[in-house]
Amino acid sequence: MDRSVRVRFAPSPTGNLHVGGARTALFNWAFARRHGGAFILRIEDTDAERNTQQALTSILGSLRWLGLDWDEGPEVGGEHGPYFQSERKASYEEAAGRGLEEGWLYRCFCTPERVAELKDAQREAKEPPRYDQRCRSVALEESARRAESGEAYVLRFAVPEGGSVNIEDAVRGNVEIATAEIEDWVAVRTGGMPTYNFCCALDDAAMEISHVLRGEEHLVNTPKQVLVAKALDIAVPGFAHLPLILGEDGKKLSKRTGETAVEDYVASGHPPEALFNFLCLLGFSLDGTTEVFSREQMCEAFDLSRLQKSGALFDTDKLRWLCGEYIRSSELSDLTDRCLPWLEKSGLVGGDITRERLEQVVSGEQERIRLYGELPERVAYLFSKPENDEKASAALAAEGVGSALSALADALEAAEDFPPSDFGALAKGVSESLDVGMGKILKPARAALTGTLGGPELAEIVALLGREEAVARLRAGVPE
Ligand code: GLU
Repeated sequence: MDRSVRVRFAPSPTGNLHVGGARTALFNWAFARRHGGAFILRIEDTDAERNTQQALTSILGSLRWLGLDWDEGPEVGGEHGPYFQSERKASYEEAAGRGLEEGWLYRCFCTPERVAELKDAQREAKEPPRYDQRCRSVALEESARRAESGEAYVLRFAVPEGGSVNIEDAVRGNVEIATAEIEDWVAVRTGGMPTYNFCCALDDAAMEISHVLRGEEHLVNTPKQVLVAKALDIAVPGFAHLPLILGEDGKKLSKRTGETAVEDYVASGHPPEALFNFLCLLGFSLDGTTEVFSREQMCEAFDLSRLQKSGALFDTDKLRWLCGEYIRSSELSDLTDRCLPWLEKSGLVGGDITRERLEQVVSGEQERIRLYGELPERVAYLFSKPENDEKASAALAAEGVGSALSALADALEAAEDFPPSDFGALAKGVSESLDVGMGKILKPARAALTGTLGGPELAEIVALLGREEAVARLRAGVPE
């Protein structure tokens, strides 16, 4: 147990929780659980125009669906609150005041137009675009006077000259960035709204965050946050920048390459355990070989040293395969509970179905479905005979179908036991008595029973339909 391990997930409530964010949350959660530390949820809602309550609700719901519970944060509270950045403004203002006084922040009165022109010219000259520090030399008294007189300004961070910032990163080792590469960035916007890097560094310190695990795309922000911590003489957390998640085209996963919200996986009926397991594999390996593992195993094994540096492929085939694995190994009763809402939504079952029957229906497809959402379509034929598709119609139009179906119906009706203990032998008896091949019996039977030629074993179909229904459908399939 290491209670000093305190990690956080810090989403901005501007949209649903996507898989990349979910992976970040999961790794932080597992790290906290592994060490008996705390997992904190902090809502970075300083961008009032883009925040929505719907996004917040969706993010919290998706985290809970994945089984990621937080020890401090919205709805649970904690001693390091508030956990919404919009409620922490006083602490940002205080730090900004201190920064101005101590000289690591300065007022910049340059207009946005001037800064944009400057950066355009730099880009044209193939130089990195960066603010030229014009206002850095304005004396504090003069800058206070200009601010007082109503001139608009932002607060920029006075990046120390010379030297470098060192980041101890658990994934990529020691990363050194020369301060010359970091521009005097905006810490507080015109009007007093602090920027992400400023708030983040302050909050990580105030919330006593010990380790920051987040996506690699944030590596550019880290030196800025370290500089703020150093300026304030507050603790610098440890870092682990998680590898990029790559789409199947090898590029960073984006909406274009199929990045998807957790909510979409819920809606299409993915088992949460499978998505959880899949997200674990995006940059982490349990032992180099095991791919299917539980939440408990993840919590026991999660270690920063087992994180990979190279991009992690978002392999949807693997996700589907994992879903199938979880469904196959589910307890039938649990699986039935999980499938029931899908069956109800599709209108196939109402209140009148018995539990036993429901379990039979689910059990018939347990080996085959990979998503709960696949079940209704696959079992619809059990509830009412669908229209025959083209192949089924062709099979039912073949010669000799009438006698084959009638004979099979007779045999089923007369069978001593139901479901027949040996359906193969029963069908074989029919084929022998009519002196036709088995295919001439089984193919039209399948068509007559299900309206299609695919699907489970015929014996299973017959058993699931029940004697009366199976016989009726066989007879109904006999051409007039
Ligand atoms: N609000 C930031 C984001 O959603 C947080 C990044 C971080 O973890 O520092 O990307």
